[in-house]
Amino acid sequence: MNTPVSTSSSATAKPLPRIALLATGGTIAGAAPDAANTAGYRAGVIGVAQLLAAVPGLDAIAQIEAEQVASIDSKDMPLALWTTLAQRVNALLASDDIDGVVITHGTDTLEETAYLLHLAVKSTKPVVMTAAMRPATALSADGPLNLLNAVTLAASSAAAGQGVLVAFNNRIHCARDVTKTSTYAVDAFQSPEIGVLGWVQDARVEFQRRALRPHTVDSLLTADMPWPSVEIVSSYAGVSRVAVDALVAAGVRGIVVAGTGNGSIHATLQEALTEATARGVAVVRASRVGSGHVMHNGAANDDALGFVSAGTLNPYKARVLLALALAAGIRERGELQRVFDTY
Ligand code: ASP
Repeated sequence: MNTPVSTSSSATAKPLPRIALLATGGTIAGAAPDAANTAGYRAGVIGVAQLLAAVPGLDAIAQIEAEQVASIDSKDMPLALWTTLAQRVNALLASDDIDGVVITHGTDTLEETAYLLHLAVKSTKPVVMTAAMRPATALSADGPLNLLNAVTLAASSAAAGQGVLVAFNNRIHCARDVTKTSTYAVDAFQSPEIGVLGWVQDARVEFQRRALRPHTVDSLLTADMPWPSVEIVSSYAGVSRVAVDALVAAGVRGIVVAGTGNGSIHATLQEALTEATARGVAVVRASRVGSGHVMHNGAANDDALGFVSAGTLNPYKARVLLALALAAGIRERGELQRVFDTY
């Protein structure tokens, strides 16, 4: 005789976390003419329903509410979409019906959007971004597993209060530290020098450490204000002052310089940037090296020249922080330096 096997009744089963999935496009939603093509594809052409359909088992991890927020190649990220995303994430997380958010995004500017949201989202609920290096149509497409891991992470209570996280190739990165370091490899994202926060694999989430800098609910910055004009210039052999002079003439409010080494700047460029500060332009010194920190009053005397040093932020993230600080009305150089020392 068969003995009935008892199963937990649905009345007592713990409800699954409710995760909002916001799709914005990118290679994870890309399509190529054939499966061997991993470079000649169009990003952002596959809809969110199809992304979900490619991931078996998602419905056992979370209840997903999917939204197509945009369908773009993230190289073309407009500032207006940043505002829309920040507002949508804040609205969703303010609701008792949503426990976390996952955002699919292109890899090209993911690190910038991630840091913006890290500072502008006002919730301790999990926010996880993910992406893919291979289009959805490719052999060994990396998007479905990255999406599965992102949802697993967002559904985990361990991800709460950690700011915006990036789940990519099984690793968990802090939005502040992560950067794209390969043009083609599926292991394209790293947190140089500082390292990953943990891993997500086979439905398991493991954190090894927490990021210390304030974010989300502890950040005083928001994305609600109009975005001030902040541009990036680079220092290199034989650089002229043409770009800086044109930016100042165009009325930019801030310039980030991607300096050489420890944020050192060619004398020609440095002279133009010092003159820019005299015209009220905020100048932040970052490095083009991709790893390490720019030391205050190190390779250039910031205090004497009127500059702010970016610390460990790369030029693209430094631009995000400078724009948010200027939008919040922070102009004085010492106060701007405190912002960079804080966030
Ligand atoms: N150009 C694509 C994008 O950023 C690249 C990618 O997603 O990997 O949307």
